[in-house]
Amino acid sequence: MRRAHRGASDAACARLGGPAPGGGHVTLPAMFRCDRQRATLTAAACERMWRAAQERLPRPWESLAQCRGCPIGVARAGRPDLVPFVPAAALRMICPRCTRQSERLIRDRLCVSCYNRALEAAKGRKAKGGVPQLCAVLHARELAVIEKGAARRVRQAPVVSLAEAMLAIARTAKAPVAFGRATADAAA
Ligand SMILES: [Zn+2]
Repeated sequence: MRRAHRGASDAACARLGGPAPGGGHVTLPAMFRCDRQRATLTAAACERMWRAAQERLPRPWESLAQCRGCPIGVARAGRPDLVPFVPAAALRMICPRCTRQSERLIRDRLCVSCYNRALEAAKGRKAKGGVPQLCAVLHARELAVIEKGAARRVRQAPVVSLAEAMLAIARTAKAPVAFGRATADAAA
């Protein structure tokens, strides 16, 4: 938040430094009250912070985390395609495999614990020896996804269950989604 204040006031001060060359009026930048940052920001500072929040995933306790899913920042950055779908955004930090809330999802998919077990399964052996139980349950799954009135078949691989596949799809959805069993999956 401190950065936001400083960035905004620097921009304002630069324009308040005295009469403009040539004696004209000094123009203040457009400022607005940002409820998420609880600060008064310039439009440029808002856009800059929103972009910074997309480049890396801010920690939940960082003020920049407030900018990440902000529809105002999206609009200022000219990225309407990134307007968050609120129900999906609420699932973004849920691990689809174990359904636990996690501050960090590896490759935007699995929590650290599930990722490490997935690595063991990929190797076919545990660090202390033996075959991981996960090997027996990881399979490719297909399901029907109905979104924006159209159905499509989606293959998720490898997942432990259809529930994991559905959650993985739901957390990145852009609109309400419904799921059905793909024919191939029903036959499996
Ligand atoms: Zn997990």
